[in-house]
Amino acid sequence: IKLNQENLAEISKRIPCPTYDRSQLKTGIVHVGIGGFHRAHEAFYTDELLHDEAIKDWGICGIALLDFDTKIYNTLKAQDGLYTLIIKELDGTLTKRVIGSITECLFAPENPIKVIEKMASPDVKIITLTITEGGYNYNEATKEFDFSNPLIQHDLDHPEAPKTIFGYLTQALKLRKERSLQGCTIQSCDNIQGNGHMTKRMLMSYVNTAEPELSAWIETNVSFPNAMVDRITPATSALDIELLKETSGIDDAWPVVCEPFKQWVIEDDFIAGRPAWETVGAQFVKDVVPYEKMKLSLLNAGHSVLGILGALYGYSTIDEAVGNADISSFLRIYMGNEVTPTLGDLEGVNLKNYKFSLIQRFGNTYIKDQIDRICSQSSAKIPIFILPTINTQLETKGSIDHAAFIIAAFAIYSVGVNEFGTQLIIKDAMEQVLNEKAIASRTHPESFLEIDAIFGSLKDNTTFVAAYTKAYQNIVQNGIEKAVKDINSNIL
Ligand code: NAD
Repeated sequence: IKLNQENLAEISKRIPCPTYDRSQLKTGIVHVGIGGFHRAHEAFYTDELLHDEAIKDWGICGIALLDFDTKIYNTLKAQDGLYTLIIKELDGTLTKRVIGSITECLFAPENPIKVIEKMASPDVKIITLTITEGGYNYNEATKEFDFSNPLIQHDLDHPEAPKTIFGYLTQALKLRKERSLQGCTIQSCDNIQGNGHMTKRMLMSYVNTAEPELSAWIETNVSFPNAMVDRITPATSALDIELLKETSGIDDAWPVVCEPFKQWVIEDDFIAGRPAWETVGAQFVKDVVPYEKMKLSLLNAGHSVLGILGALYGYSTIDEAVGNADISSFLRIYMGNEVTPTLGDLEGVNLKNYKFSLIQRFGNTYIKDQIDRICSQSSAKIPIFILPTINTQLETKGSIDHAAFIIAAFAIYSVGVNEFGTQLIIKDAMEQVLNEKAIASRTHPESFLEIDAIFGSLKDNTTFVAAYTKAYQNIVQNGIEKAVKDINSNIL
């Protein structure tokens, strides 16, 4: 049976479906980036909330911003915004349900004005984002907004037909101001430390150039709460689509799969009101920074460690990588000796349990999180997930050996083929420079650290360069497996 609104009553005999009246919902949230994560996380929490029939103001309009997003837009449109969430429990059980909180979808390249109008609608109180780490247009070397991006130049020249989130938000906020409407909240759900601060800083850089007279209005009328988001959501595979058909007879062109664990810790700073997400498990706190730091530097960095080492070993999924005893020892030592000292006191968090549960979550053999996905856009991830740990450890003269080893492994990974001759699929906005520097590193390992946009001034730190070079040479001379054993036993 095809998944759509008309068939929902029939489908609800097979798996749980929205019991609320979707046609009665107002759109209170615009979400940009209707990828897997949004649909496993914010849309899931909101769906739970909407089961309280009294709540009518928080339907979601999903925006597909990039040309690349035609497929997800067409799929969701054909399914009336409905999709199946398949939760893969640790014992392999599948918990399935249809999510109904996305009530509208728009494809920005087709109709930019409609998107701007929707973002400026008086009913819309919150604009949420999952535009990936790279979407914030932040340059690690300059620590500033990257005006050299041709898409940003396009938006400055064509404000009526933008291509980037910054062009869209600026136009929408300008309309709100011109129409004397209320401001709104812009809430990032991406894996970036201080994601609200980052969103505000990058947007204000753009606005100060594009529409300087709008800046003061934004300062007073728009809030940018920080948030920590967590739920491992791998890319949906053809097998998942088949599995849903086989087990429930439901024809859903793009279900979402995820782990059972979920967490959302949000700063309570919503200038135009918000859904009561706390009633369905989100946590509202005054200061989200410690939670973010813990999650980015343990879970996200952990993923990058498993992804990069896993690719060099020839694995294709995260559970295979963490299932290797040497790789999981490496990760435990990295988390224990190098990350933990940087985290300080985390009130109310049992770090030991958190680290233990991470190894368990990574090891979920039913999730099959692809190493290619985890390694994609590493040039944007490493500065956020791993460099803060390195910088703090260097300042406090703590150990950085495992972190330096990861960067060396990343340099070797960026050549695009592992030592067993397996081609590595590198999806990265900086792929070309990564590859060039990776090849140059074969004769001069430090060459890789010259990519300032990723590593900033790390190349000038002699302690780091020494540890990195040693690790690089060890991997090249002895092979990845022996090099990982060596670095682990130096510490053990
Ligand atoms: P996905 O590939 O399924 O979707 C990515 C979405 O981001 C797409 O809708 C795409 O249009 C949009 N996007 C990419 N670059 C953009 C840009 N420059 N401007 C505007 N939109 C852009 O990926 P996903 O799994 O949904 O992950 C998206 C983000 O969510 C991650 O980068 C991360 O920050 C966050 N996140 C993901 C997970 C996870 O496990 N997948 C967990 C926590 C947080």
